[in-house]
Amino acid sequence: MADYESHTFDVVVIGAGGAGLRAAIEASAQGARTALVCKSLLGKAHTVMAEGGIAAALGNVYPEDNWRVHFRDTMRGGKLLNNWRMVQLQAQEAPDRVHELEEWGALFDRTNDGRILQRDFGGHRYARLAHVGDRTGLEMIRTLQHHAVHRGIDVFMECTVTRLLKDGERIAGAFAYWRESGRFVVFDAPAVVLATGGIGKAYKITSNSWEYTGDGHALALWAGADLIDMEFVQFHPTGMVWPPSVRGILVTEGVRGDGGILQNALGDRFMFRYISEMFRAETADTEEEADRWYTDKQNARRTPDLLPRDEVARAINSEIKEGRGSPHGGVFLDIASRRSADYIRRRLPSMYHQFRQLADVDITKEPMEVGPTCHYMMGGVRVDAVSQASTVPGLFAAGEVAAGAHGANRLGGNSLSDLLVFGRRAGLYAAEYADSLTSRPVVDPGRVDELAGEDLRPFDTAGSENPYAIQQDLQECMQALVGIIRTEDELAKAIEELAVLGDRVGRVRVEGHRQYNPGWHLALDLGPLLTVSECIARAAWQRRESRGAQTRDDYPTTDPELGKVNVVVRQRAGELDVAVEPRPPLPDDLQALLENQ
Ligand code: FAD
Repeated sequence: MADYESHTFDVVVIGAGGAGLRAAIEASAQGARTALVCKSLLGKAHTVMAEGGIAAALGNVYPEDNWRVHFRDTMRGGKLLNNWRMVQLQAQEAPDRVHELEEWGALFDRTNDGRILQRDFGGHRYARLAHVGDRTGLEMIRTLQHHAVHRGIDVFMECTVTRLLKDGERIAGAFAYWRESGRFVVFDAPAVVLATGGIGKAYKITSNSWEYTGDGHALALWAGADLIDMEFVQFHPTGMVWPPSVRGILVTEGVRGDGGILQNALGDRFMFRYISEMFRAETADTEEEADRWYTDKQNARRTPDLLPRDEVARAINSEIKEGRGSPHGGVFLDIASRRSADYIRRRLPSMYHQFRQLADVDITKEPMEVGPTCHYMMGGVRVDAVSQASTVPGLFAAGEVAAGAHGANRLGGNSLSDLLVFGRRAGLYAAEYADSLTSRPVVDPGRVDELAGEDLRPFDTAGSENPYAIQQDLQECMQALVGIIRTEDELAKAIEELAVLGDRVGRVRVEGHRQYNPGWHLALDLGPLLTVSECIARAAWQRRESRGAQTRDDYPTTDPELGKVNVVVRQRAGELDVAVEPRPPLPDDLQALLENQ
């Protein structure tokens, strides 16, 4: 019999980033007994790293802005594959959520007349990102955390969930371990909200930190939920490329939003050569007009430096491949020659310090070297737009782990407003669901024993595989074969290599005991990492077209028929099942917004 502690709640929220905190606040406000569980320390979630800002059509800088333009920009940025109802809800509700944050104590940068200032970002027609310098995530987490702690929500930090528990078809709770002691914990709860963030650690070059191992994606899949859009992994165009130890660390799009430009080794502003058909009419084709756009949105067309991320990342990739890259394999991002040193230090303090301390580069005097880095996961748990309910009763998902809002490519700033809008909705509907039950699901102690045995297996096995070596091989495989540009042959090879890695995971052995044992923690993370990697490779293989973040060299064009479907991944009888299913069509009134705004 496994030894474990047990806690009873109505709603358990897994993940304490923006989505998890907002969900927990709402569930608790509805009167649900609520727990917040997180793998790292409270306050250390990815959201704290967010830099540029929160996209919301407040209309403070450009009164012409409204939810309809935000809707249109997001759908076009997502290459029309978004769940239109989620986009509509996000565009409509984001301004209220930002004002609510302000009421709870967030201090945003201000306009001259004292309203919330907004900055330019890629793909947004108007300056729309509420921000605090380039440290917006820190302010967001500080505010939400303060609010959550004062509500008296129970927090379990440094506690990793490794499985969801079920009673028949319904969720019954979650199974976890304390990272410090290695002891097991059972959360007995009829409603679980997944808010575990992304999958970046499946790739070698990433802006994401150690805890982004796709746990929520895997937990949902293993519990029987549908995942959609797993082929769409966002490579942010600008990560640091030098020195090697910091490769992949993000350089915020705010640098380009505040006037920075991309150049190749020849000094050429190459983005003018990469304007796609979808954005041609609204993108400037001369440097003069591009520069005018920063101050004259009505009469000048957008600068191509701020095209959506998928387009800029592909362009940079091509420049490097064709031999016009910077000395360390990137391109140049220059703000020094375009803005004063004072302006740069005030608007981009973190970028200034990041380059100064990590690369010995003064960005007020020299250009930065940048290149694409794995940044964000558009794919994830298939949810109902209104309630964030997954296809498993009692399981909800919000934030980066949920899919739909961003389609084939997310616009910058749209993640933070997604967390607030859909975090609130997930908490609300999870609490309502728990309250509506006439019989509470029951945790099966036999299943808990089984799961404890599975988690401890790396200590007992006769195998000799090292978890660090497997993680490295997995990251190399995904980076080389399932990266920015994909082909059928490479994807097939990746699927084969992942199968071999799966066998090796079965032979992982760790030394020592359960108390704070990072090798064991990583051994347990390998399950989710391998699962999400397989889902990405299989979904990418299935979608035979190029759209948004999925670029297939062997299918270089966008296929209108494939714009009508999602690739859905499920697990049935232990096997992955990949299907193509129709998406609900866009209603006429919203279709008109795409054409008329
Ligand atoms: P997170 O904030 O990552 O939180 C995930 C939580 O889940 C953590 O608490 C983690 O410990 C927990 N967790 C994970 N697995 C488990 C498990 N098994 N058991 C228990 N707990 C678990 N977006 C914008 O909109 N604007 C920006 O300016 C912006 N800048 C960014 C800058 C950087 C450097 C990065 C990396 C991202 C940026 N993004 C930005 C994206 C955005 O920050 C993320 O998409 C967003 O914060 C994700 O929030 P989340 O609540 O879904 O997850």
